[in-house]
Amino acid sequence: MIRYALICDDGHAFEAWFSSSADYDAQVERGLVECPHCGSIQISKQIMAPAVRTARKVEARQAASVNGAADFETLARKVKAHIRSNYDYVGSDFAKEAKAIHEGDKPERLIYGETTPEERDQLKADEVPVAPLPEPFAPTPPKKAN
Ligand SMILES: [Zn+2]
Repeated sequence: MIRYALICDDGHAFEAWFSSSADYDAQVERGLVECPHCGSIQISKQIMAPAVRTARKVEARQAASVNGAADFETLARKVKAHIRSNYDYVGSDFAKEAKAIHEGDKPERLIYGETTPEERDQLKADEVPVAPLPEPFAPTPPKKAN
């Protein structure tokens, strides 16, 4: 069993168990995973990224709230595009990679990916600075090759 930190298109965070990553994909595709808060079936995994970018993101959000919703959408798209082209997607290896980079075992680089809640707690315990990317700034993970 694997537990995922999930988020709906309305930004509600929740957790759910799946027998495997493939089981998660299949259930979400068939609309079987529902947000417990609003019933939305537009569900994705919470995407994590190094917290160093968080301040910039909050700034962006504040700037956007001043300029109105249309600009906010443009900005969200830009942030997503920025992450997609500048960050390496590491998928479920996120916790391992973030820790290795934090501890200097691997060269510093920008990554994003998913964690289980357990991995997220462990990163916090290890004082690895990561933070969830809230919708609408979390990019859709790149499609797998197969
Ligand atoms: Zn919801």
